[in-house]
Amino acid sequence: MLKTCSRCNEPKDESEFGTRGKKRPNEVFPYCKECRAIVSCMRRREIKHETFMQYGGCKCSCICGCNETEEDFLGLDHINDDGGKQRKELKIPGGINYYRWLKKHNWPDKDKLIVACHNCNLGRAMNSGLCPRAFHKIHPQSK
Ligand SMILES: [Zn+2]
Ligand SMILES: [Zn+2]
Ligand SMILES: [Zn+2]
Repeated sequence: MLKTCSRCNEPKDESEFGTRGKKRPNEVFPYCKECRAIVSCMRRREIKHETFMQYGGCKCSCICGCNETEEDFLGLDHINDDGGKQRKELKIPGGINYYRWLKKHNWPDKDKLIVACHNCNLGRAMNSGLCPRAFHKIHPQSK
């Protein structure tokens, strides 16, 4: 049976839509699978963008000055490097669920969280909080 997607307006087979799972198997989604993937990607980017704007803007704020602005490369970083520990203690979910959690709790720890790209995040985690690129800047001869 064909069904028209209410987002892209393309008629597709009903199997291209999917249902709401076992609980409501008769309820078919109004959007096709492709459109649902687009919508969920947009929502993910939205909440990410919103979070970054709350914590200093959509830019890597690492002291090395890398200034990465691609949101897919950015994440939140704990200044004191205790993010993982705190998240474990409070049972805070990771990734996008973490951003939703922050929103629900009215954007806490604004003085402890910074926006940083994954390279700087990782670099800082491996060098007790100092981004290796910043280190090379301070000590150019150490390369
Ligand atoms: Zn569609
Ligand atoms: Zn960076
Ligand atoms: Zn850096």
